[in-house]
Amino acid sequence: MSSQLEPYIKRIKNGEVVAIPTETVYGLAAHAWNPVAINRVYSLKNRPSDNPLIIHIAHKDQLDEFIEELSPLHKELMNRFWPGPLTILFPANSKVLSIVTAGLPTVALRMPNHPLTLELIRNTGPLVAPSANISGTPSATKPNHVYEDFGSEIAILDGGSCDYGLESTVVEILNNELIIHRPGAITAEDLCAIAPLSTRVEPAQAAPRSPGQKYRHYAPNARVEWMPENPSMIEKDACMLISLKNFSKNITTTETLTYFEQLDWQGDWLAFAKNLYDCFRRADHNNLKTIYIEDIRSSEYQHPMKDALVNRIEKAITRA
Ligand code: AMP
Ligand code: MG
Repeated sequence: MSSQLEPYIKRIKNGEVVAIPTETVYGLAAHAWNPVAINRVYSLKNRPSDNPLIIHIAHKDQLDEFIEELSPLHKELMNRFWPGPLTILFPANSKVLSIVTAGLPTVALRMPNHPLTLELIRNTGPLVAPSANISGTPSATKPNHVYEDFGSEIAILDGGSCDYGLESTVVEILNNELIIHRPGAITAEDLCAIAPLSTRVEPAQAAPRSPGQKYRHYAPNARVEWMPENPSMIEKDACMLISLKNFSKNITTTETLTYFEQLDWQGDWLAFAKNLYDCFRRADHNNLKTIYIEDIRSSEYQHPMKDALVNRIEKAITRA
Protein backbone atom coordinates (compact mmCIF):
# COMPACT_ATOMS: atom_id res chain seq x y z
CA MET A 1 0.00 0.00 0.00
CA SER A 2 1.17 3.51 -0.75
CA SER A 3 2.44 5.03 2.53
CA GLN A 4 0.91 8.34 1.44
CA LEU A 5 -2.50 6.78 2.12
CA GLU A 6 -1.94 5.49 5.64
CA PRO A 7 -2.88 8.67 7.57
CA TYR A 8 -6.03 9.10 5.49
CA ILE A 9 -7.09 5.50 6.06
CA LYS A 10 -6.61 6.02 9.79
CA ARG A 11 -8.62 9.22 9.80
CA ILE A 12 -11.56 7.62 8.02
CA LYS A 13 -11.47 4.59 10.30
CA ASN A 14 -11.47 7.03 13.25
CA GLY A 15 -14.67 8.61 11.96
CA GLU A 16 -13.14 11.73 10.41
CA VAL A 17 -14.16 13.43 7.18
CA VAL A 18 -11.47 13.52 4.47
CA ALA A 19 -11.45 15.10 1.00
CA ILE A 20 -10.64 12.59 -1.74
CA PRO A 21 -9.80 12.94 -5.43
CA THR A 22 -11.88 11.24 -8.12
CA GLU A 23 -11.82 11.48 -11.90
CA THR A 24 -14.93 13.71 -11.80
CA VAL A 25 -14.63 16.14 -8.86
CA TYR A 26 -13.21 16.01 -5.31
CA GLY A 27 -15.42 14.27 -2.75
CA LEU A 28 -15.99 14.96 0.95
CA ALA A 29 -15.68 11.41 2.24
CA ALA A 30 -16.92 9.62 5.34
CA HIS A 31 -17.35 5.94 6.07
CA ALA A 32 -20.67 4.72 4.64
CA TRP A 33 -21.58 2.96 7.93
CA ASN A 34 -20.68 5.82 10.29
CA PRO A 35 -23.76 8.05 10.81
CA VAL A 36 -21.89 10.56 12.99
CA ALA A 37 -19.22 11.15 10.34
CA ILE A 38 -21.91 11.33 7.64
CA ASN A 39 -23.79 13.90 9.67
CA ARG A 40 -20.63 15.98 9.73
CA VAL A 41 -20.44 15.81 5.93
CA TYR A 42 -23.92 17.32 5.71
CA SER A 43 -23.13 20.06 8.22
CA LEU A 44 -19.72 20.93 6.77
CA LYS A 45 -21.27 21.30 3.32
CA ASN A 46 -24.45 22.91 4.61
CA ARG A 47 -26.20 20.30 2.47
CA PRO A 48 -29.99 19.94 2.74
CA SER A 49 -30.78 16.70 4.56
CA ASP A 50 -33.10 15.49 1.78
CA ASN A 51 -30.27 15.42 -0.77
CA PRO A 52 -28.86 11.85 -0.64
CA LEU A 53 -25.23 10.81 -0.96
CA ILE A 54 -23.42 8.62 -3.48
CA ILE A 55 -21.57 5.65 -2.00
CA HIS A 56 -18.15 5.00 -3.54
CA ILE A 57 -16.84 1.44 -3.73
CA ALA A 58 -13.59 -0.10 -4.92
CA HIS A 59 -14.73 -3.56 -5.99
CA LYS A 60 -18.02 -5.16 -6.87
CA ASP A 61 -18.18 -7.32 -3.73
CA GLN A 62 -18.69 -4.13 -1.73
CA LEU A 63 -22.06 -3.70 -3.48
CA ASP A 64 -23.57 -6.56 -1.51
CA GLU A 65 -23.55 -4.48 1.67
CA PHE A 66 -26.14 -2.12 0.24
CA ILE A 67 -28.42 -3.88 -2.21
CA GLU A 68 -30.79 -6.84 -2.21
CA GLU A 69 -30.54 -8.05 -5.78
CA LEU A 70 -28.87 -7.16 -9.03
CA SER A 71 -30.65 -7.21 -12.41
CA PRO A 72 -28.73 -8.34 -15.53
CA LEU A 73 -28.92 -4.78 -16.78
CA HIS A 74 -27.37 -3.38 -13.63
CA LYS A 75 -24.58 -5.91 -14.06
CA GLU A 76 -24.05 -4.87 -17.64
CA LEU A 77 -23.83 -1.18 -16.72
CA MET A 78 -21.31 -1.94 -13.98
CA ASN A 79 -19.20 -4.21 -16.16
CA ARG A 80 -19.09 -1.72 -18.97
CA PHE A 81 -18.62 1.57 -17.13
CA TRP A 82 -16.96 0.85 -13.75
CA PRO A 83 -14.59 2.10 -12.63
CA GLY A 84 -15.73 5.34 -14.24
CA PRO A 85 -17.97 8.42 -14.07
CA LEU A 86 -21.31 6.58 -13.87
CA THR A 87 -23.47 6.58 -10.73
CA ILE A 88 -26.16 3.88 -10.75
CA LEU A 89 -29.26 3.92 -8.55
CA PHE A 90 -30.16 0.49 -7.10
CA PRO A 91 -33.04 -0.65 -4.90
CA ALA A 92 -31.53 -0.30 -1.40
CA ASN A 93 -31.60 -3.11 1.16
CA SER A 94 -33.10 -2.42 4.59
CA LYS A 95 -29.69 -1.93 6.25
CA VAL A 96 -28.50 1.12 4.29
CA LEU A 97 -28.47 4.14 6.59
CA SER A 98 -31.35 6.50 5.86
CA ILE A 99 -28.99 9.45 6.33
CA VAL A 100 -27.26 8.18 3.16
CA THR A 101 -30.39 7.67 1.05
CA ALA A 102 -32.38 10.56 2.59
CA GLY A 103 -35.06 7.94 3.21
CA LEU A 104 -35.44 7.02 -0.49
CA PRO A 105 -35.91 3.39 -1.53
CA THR A 106 -32.86 3.70 -3.81
CA VAL A 107 -29.16 3.83 -3.05
CA ALA A 108 -26.65 5.50 -5.42
CA LEU A 109 -23.35 3.69 -6.04
CA ARG A 110 -20.28 4.40 -8.09
CA MET A 111 -16.77 3.01 -8.51
CA PRO A 112 -14.52 6.03 -9.15
CA ASN A 113 -11.60 5.66 -11.50
CA HIS A 114 -8.80 7.19 -9.48
CA PRO A 115 -5.93 4.93 -8.36
CA LEU A 116 -5.36 6.62 -4.98
CA THR A 117 -9.02 6.65 -4.05
CA LEU A 118 -9.59 3.07 -5.19
CA GLU A 119 -6.73 1.94 -2.99
CA LEU A 120 -8.02 4.03 -0.11
CA ILE A 121 -11.50 2.46 -0.36
CA ARG A 122 -10.05 -1.04 -0.58
CA ASN A 123 -8.60 -0.37 2.85
CA THR A 124 -11.38 1.64 4.51
CA GLY A 125 -14.49 0.06 3.00
CA PRO A 126 -17.18 2.03 1.13
CA LEU A 127 -17.35 5.81 1.52
CA VAL A 128 -20.04 8.39 0.98
CA ALA A 129 -18.50 11.28 -0.93
CA PRO A 130 -20.61 14.21 -2.14
CA SER A 131 -18.71 16.92 -3.96
CA ALA A 132 -16.20 18.67 -1.68
CA ASN A 133 -17.68 22.16 -1.81
CA ILE A 134 -20.14 24.19 0.23
CA SER A 135 -23.60 23.37 -1.19
CA GLY A 136 -24.58 25.62 -4.06
CA THR A 137 -21.05 26.70 -5.00
CA PRO A 138 -19.05 25.22 -7.90
CA SER A 139 -17.72 21.73 -7.18
CA ALA A 140 -14.05 21.37 -6.22
CA THR A 141 -11.84 20.05 -9.01
CA LYS A 142 -8.45 20.84 -7.43
CA PRO A 143 -7.13 20.44 -3.88
CA ASN A 144 -6.95 24.22 -3.40
CA HIS A 145 -10.69 24.52 -4.18
CA VAL A 146 -11.39 22.21 -1.23
CA TYR A 147 -9.11 24.32 0.93
CA GLU A 148 -10.92 27.49 -0.16
CA ASP A 149 -14.24 26.11 1.11
CA PHE A 150 -13.16 24.21 4.23
CA GLY A 151 -9.77 25.59 5.25
CA SER A 152 -7.68 23.35 7.46
CA GLU A 153 -10.75 21.75 9.04
CA ILE A 154 -10.42 18.63 6.95
CA ALA A 155 -7.48 16.64 5.56
CA ILE A 156 -7.18 16.65 1.77
CA LEU A 157 -5.76 13.66 -0.09
CA ASP A 158 -3.99 15.35 -2.99
CA GLY A 159 -4.62 13.53 -6.26
CA GLY A 160 -4.00 16.50 -8.55
CA SER A 161 -6.62 18.07 -10.82
CA CYS A 162 -9.68 15.98 -11.65
CA ASP A 163 -9.65 14.57 -15.19
CA TYR A 164 -13.25 15.37 -16.18
CA GLY A 165 -14.03 18.29 -13.89
CA LEU A 166 -17.81 17.65 -14.03
CA GLU A 167 -19.87 15.39 -11.77
CA SER A 168 -20.76 11.81 -12.73
CA THR A 169 -23.70 10.78 -14.91
CA VAL A 170 -26.53 9.54 -12.64
CA VAL A 171 -28.79 6.81 -14.07
CA GLU A 172 -31.67 4.69 -12.91
CA ILE A 173 -33.43 1.73 -14.51
CA LEU A 174 -37.18 2.22 -14.20
CA ASN A 175 -39.81 0.11 -15.97
CA ASN A 176 -37.20 -1.13 -18.40
CA GLU A 177 -36.26 2.41 -19.30
CA LEU A 178 -32.91 3.99 -18.61
CA ILE A 179 -33.39 7.41 -17.05
CA ILE A 180 -30.58 9.93 -16.88
CA HIS A 181 -31.06 12.06 -13.79
CA ARG A 182 -27.86 14.01 -14.34
CA PRO A 183 -25.86 14.13 -17.60
CA GLY A 184 -22.11 13.56 -17.36
CA ALA A 185 -19.14 12.15 -19.26
CA ILE A 186 -20.96 8.84 -19.84
CA THR A 187 -23.51 9.91 -22.44
CA ALA A 188 -26.98 8.72 -23.49
CA GLU A 189 -25.33 7.33 -26.61
CA ASP A 190 -22.80 5.34 -24.55
CA LEU A 191 -25.62 3.95 -22.42
CA CYS A 192 -27.87 3.05 -25.35
CA ALA A 193 -25.03 1.11 -26.91
CA ILE A 194 -25.21 -1.53 -24.18
CA ALA A 195 -28.96 -1.91 -23.81
CA PRO A 196 -31.94 -1.68 -26.17
CA LEU A 197 -33.54 0.94 -23.98
CA SER A 198 -34.87 4.38 -24.55
CA THR A 199 -33.16 7.03 -22.49
CA ARG A 200 -34.52 10.34 -21.41
CA VAL A 201 -33.09 13.09 -19.30
CA GLU A 202 -35.32 13.59 -16.31
CA PRO A 203 -36.44 17.19 -15.82
CA ALA A 204 -35.93 18.59 -12.32
CA GLN A 205 -39.30 18.57 -10.55
CA ALA A 206 -40.59 19.60 -7.16
CA ALA A 207 -40.07 16.08 -5.80
CA PRO A 208 -37.71 14.41 -8.25
CA ARG A 209 -36.53 10.83 -7.87
CA SER A 210 -33.01 12.26 -7.60
CA PRO A 211 -33.49 15.19 -5.21
CA GLY A 212 -30.14 16.88 -5.91
CA GLN A 213 -31.54 18.08 -9.21
CA LYS A 214 -33.90 20.52 -7.55
CA TYR A 215 -31.20 22.42 -5.69
CA ARG A 216 -29.18 25.37 -6.83
CA HIS A 217 -25.82 24.09 -7.99
CA TYR A 218 -22.55 24.98 -9.55
CA ALA A 219 -23.09 28.73 -9.40
CA PRO A 220 -20.40 31.33 -8.72
CA ASN A 221 -21.30 34.71 -7.23
CA ALA A 222 -20.62 36.31 -10.61
CA ARG A 223 -23.56 36.30 -13.01
CA VAL A 224 -23.17 33.66 -15.73
CA GLU A 225 -24.56 34.29 -19.22
CA TRP A 226 -24.35 32.81 -22.68
CA MET A 227 -22.32 35.12 -24.91
CA PRO A 228 -24.90 37.23 -26.80
CA GLU A 229 -25.04 37.06 -30.60
CA ASN A 230 -24.45 40.77 -30.69
CA PRO A 231 -21.22 41.54 -28.82
CA SER A 232 -22.28 45.10 -28.11
CA MET A 233 -24.63 43.56 -25.55
CA ILE A 234 -21.67 42.51 -23.44
CA GLU A 235 -21.42 44.42 -20.22
CA LYS A 236 -17.90 45.66 -20.44
CA ASP A 237 -17.05 46.13 -16.84
CA ALA A 238 -15.20 43.36 -15.01
CA CYS A 239 -16.09 40.27 -16.91
CA MET A 240 -14.63 36.94 -17.88
CA LEU A 241 -15.11 35.69 -21.44
CA ILE A 242 -14.88 31.94 -21.97
CA SER A 243 -15.02 30.55 -25.45
CA LEU A 244 -14.78 27.07 -26.86
CA LYS A 245 -13.61 28.12 -30.33
CA ASN A 246 -15.32 31.22 -31.71
CA PHE A 247 -14.18 33.91 -29.38
CA SER A 248 -12.62 36.22 -31.91
CA LYS A 249 -15.61 35.95 -34.27
CA ASN A 250 -17.83 37.22 -31.50
CA ILE A 251 -15.92 40.27 -30.42
CA THR A 252 -13.97 41.67 -33.36
CA THR A 253 -16.69 44.13 -34.28
CA THR A 254 -16.83 45.82 -30.89
CA GLU A 255 -14.74 48.44 -29.25
CA THR A 256 -12.02 47.17 -26.96
CA LEU A 257 -13.50 45.56 -23.90
CA THR A 258 -12.26 46.23 -20.43
CA TYR A 259 -12.64 42.56 -19.67
CA PHE A 260 -10.57 41.16 -16.91
CA GLU A 261 -9.82 37.80 -18.40
CA GLN A 262 -10.49 35.95 -21.62
CA LEU A 263 -10.06 32.26 -22.23
CA ASP A 264 -10.25 30.46 -25.53
CA TRP A 265 -10.15 26.65 -25.34
CA GLN A 266 -9.47 26.42 -29.08
CA GLY A 267 -11.96 23.63 -29.63
CA ASP A 268 -10.73 21.50 -26.72
CA TRP A 269 -14.01 20.41 -25.09
CA LEU A 270 -12.28 18.33 -22.45
CA ALA A 271 -10.15 21.26 -21.27
CA PHE A 272 -13.26 23.47 -21.29
CA ALA A 273 -15.12 21.00 -19.03
CA LYS A 274 -12.13 20.27 -16.82
CA ASN A 275 -11.56 23.96 -16.09
CA LEU A 276 -15.11 25.29 -15.95
CA TYR A 277 -15.44 25.36 -12.15
CA ASP A 278 -11.91 26.67 -11.75
CA CYS A 279 -12.90 29.59 -14.02
CA PHE A 280 -16.05 30.18 -11.95
CA ARG A 281 -14.03 30.24 -8.77
CA ARG A 282 -11.33 32.47 -10.24
CA ALA A 283 -13.91 34.98 -11.43
CA ASP A 284 -15.19 35.24 -7.85
CA HIS A 285 -11.69 35.67 -6.46
CA ASN A 286 -11.21 38.59 -8.78
CA ASN A 287 -14.62 40.06 -7.97
CA LEU A 288 -15.76 39.87 -11.57
CA LYS A 289 -19.38 40.73 -12.20
CA THR A 290 -20.20 38.61 -15.22
CA ILE A 291 -18.95 35.44 -16.90
CA TYR A 292 -19.89 35.17 -20.58
CA ILE A 293 -19.63 31.72 -22.12
CA GLU A 294 -19.75 30.93 -25.83
CA ASP A 295 -23.23 29.61 -26.60
CA ILE A 296 -22.65 25.92 -27.38
CA ARG A 297 -26.32 24.89 -27.48
CA SER A 298 -26.88 24.85 -31.26
CA SER A 299 -26.47 21.72 -33.38
CA GLU A 300 -23.28 23.05 -34.95
CA TYR A 301 -21.61 22.06 -31.67
CA GLN A 302 -21.26 18.31 -31.17
CA HIS A 303 -19.25 16.52 -28.50
CA PRO A 304 -19.87 13.83 -25.86
CA MET A 305 -19.37 16.41 -23.08
CA LYS A 306 -21.89 18.84 -24.59
CA ASP A 307 -25.00 17.75 -22.62
CA ALA A 308 -23.15 17.77 -19.30
CA LEU A 309 -21.60 21.17 -19.98
CA VAL A 310 -24.86 22.77 -21.12
CA ASN A 311 -26.60 21.32 -18.04
CA ARG A 312 -24.04 22.76 -15.60
CA ILE A 313 -23.81 26.13 -17.36
CA GLU A 314 -27.61 26.50 -17.53
CA LYS A 315 -27.88 25.73 -13.82
CA ALA A 316 -25.25 28.38 -13.14
CA ILE A 317 -27.13 30.86 -15.35
CA THR A 318 -30.58 30.32 -13.87
CA ARG A 319 -29.12 29.68 -10.41
CA ALA A 320 -31.69 26.89 -10.24
P1 AMP B 1 -23.16 15.15 -5.47
O1 AMP B 1 -22.60 14.01 -4.72
O2 AMP B 1 -23.19 16.43 -4.72
O3 AMP B 1 -22.55 15.26 -6.82
O4 AMP B 1 -24.70 14.80 -5.74
C1 AMP B 1 -25.18 13.50 -5.77
C2 AMP B 1 -26.35 13.37 -6.73
O5 AMP B 1 -26.83 12.00 -6.71
C3 AMP B 1 -27.53 14.23 -6.32
O6 AMP B 1 -28.11 14.78 -7.49
C4 AMP B 1 -28.47 13.26 -5.66
O7 AMP B 1 -29.82 13.64 -5.77
C5 AMP B 1 -28.20 11.95 -6.40
N1 AMP B 1 -28.47 10.81 -5.52
C6 AMP B 1 -27.67 10.33 -4.55
N2 AMP B 1 -28.26 9.29 -3.93
C7 AMP B 1 -29.45 9.10 -4.52
C8 AMP B 1 -30.52 8.18 -4.31
N3 AMP B 1 -30.47 7.26 -3.36
N4 AMP B 1 -31.61 8.27 -5.09
C9 AMP B 1 -31.66 9.23 -6.05
N5 AMP B 1 -30.67 10.12 -6.31
C10 AMP B 1 -29.58 10.06 -5.55
MG1 MG C 1 -22.50 18.45 -5.37
